[in-house]
Amino acid sequence: MAKSKAKAVELIALQCTECKRRNYTTSKNRRNIQKKLEFNKYCKFDRKHTLHRETKIK
Ligand SMILES: [Zn+2]
Repeated sequence: MAKSKAKAVELIALQCTECKRRNYTTSKNRRNIQKKLEFNKYCKFDRKHTLHRETKIK
């Protein structure tokens, strides 16, 4: 039971496209979302909203 539950949801980091820092983590369900995620989020290092892209956590 515990094993089969794990794989559909993937943990990802959201990386700022300007300073390349990973400011956020989130998860996505790979069954529902095929494409790369992009969010406009506040980056405290740039002190403004920037585009954040999905990257792997590892
Ligand atoms: Zn940044």
